[in-house]
Amino acid sequence: MTLLDTLNRPLRDLRVSVTDRCNFRCVYCMPKEVFGPDYQFLHRDMVLTFEEIARLARIFTGFGVKKIRLTGGEPLVRKDFPDLLKMLSEIPDLDLTMTTNGSLLPRFADQLKRSGLKRVTVSLDSLDNQIFKSMNDVDFPVEKVIEGMDAAKAAGLEPIKVNMVVKRGVNEQSILPMARFFREKGFILRFIEYMDVGHSNGWRMNDVVSAKEIVKIIGAEMPLEPADPNYNGEVAERWRYKDGGGEIGVIASVTQAFCRDCNRARLSAEGKLYTCLFAVRGHDLREMVRGGASDEEIAQRIEGIWGKRADRYSEIRSENTIPLPKVEMSHIGG
Ligand code: SAM
Ligand code: SF4
Ligand code: SF4
Repeated sequence: MTLLDTLNRPLRDLRVSVTDRCNFRCVYCMPKEVFGPDYQFLHRDMVLTFEEIARLARIFTGFGVKKIRLTGGEPLVRKDFPDLLKMLSEIPDLDLTMTTNGSLLPRFADQLKRSGLKRVTVSLDSLDNQIFKSMNDVDFPVEKVIEGMDAAKAAGLEPIKVNMVVKRGVNEQSILPMARFFREKGFILRFIEYMDVGHSNGWRMNDVVSAKEIVKIIGAEMPLEPADPNYNGEVAERWRYKDGGGEIGVIASVTQAFCRDCNRARLSAEGKLYTCLFAVRGHDLREMVRGGASDEEIAQRIEGIWGKRADRYSEIRSENTIPLPKVEMSHIGG
């Protein structure tokens, strides 16, 4: 059964945040001033158990969800995370993937593969240690993330994608070195425009380096041509190197909104369903899950929520929407 929202968009993609905790403090996501030692993370009892996540995932796949991306916070800091993969990998025809900062991949890559993970996206914002450390703000070195990517490759978690958030005046000089390096390595590098998610990163439009600008910078050295999307609703716009040396992606969530095809729902670590990355409010499913509701009753609730969905934040972003108290990225994942 396919669910359609008020703008005729089907529900196809579910992103599940398995924890709101993280071992990094990226300045654009969990700035230390807000996520400091006194920050109150969710208590264990408030976080969905693996059984609860797997149950909800099955209900979502009944609506035609084909892809589940596990995210966070940092998914690999959640205890026994591979056990969740084992449960989810029993769901047939599911593209099961995750986004990670890569720091714990050297330790876990093999186990993740054995537990049913298909592929992985690793975030890295620069190859320059000074810049990268200033962005992750926990002194974490580039080499360790690359080691994580190599471990993922050796384990067969391919294709490996790399996410780079570009912030003006911070890491734009890393665009070309990153493009050269990952072209050589054969990983798909995706540049993400810095977004006004949450309400703690102090976002300003001037901090955004547009996808157009990024393509121009790379294309001047390594000529690019546009490539067709792999599927309808693909977030990254694909560009191919003209000489056949692979491809890059640009995610222009700020300058070229793609709400029209947005088929993604997000489940927060505490079991709230968000129909947009920039939502102000989520819908509590944990209460139903723990309150004895049947699968049919939960499915009906999801149907009701998606049926009323009218989100298109990026298309209507303005001076008035930017200060809204939106949910933090670390709660619902990217
Ligand atoms: N901790 C994991 C990681 O960093 O890959 C998964 C969660 S993280 C919230 C998911 C993705 O969102 C990462 O690629 C991260 O770079 C991106 N992200 C976080 N804050 C962002 C922002 N303000 N603008 C654009 N992308 C952002
Ligand atoms: Fe952690 Fe990922 Fe957010 Fe960085 S982007 S603080 S690694 S959740
Ligand atoms: Fe989807 Fe909301 Fe992003 Fe638009 S702003 S693409 S509706 S998540």
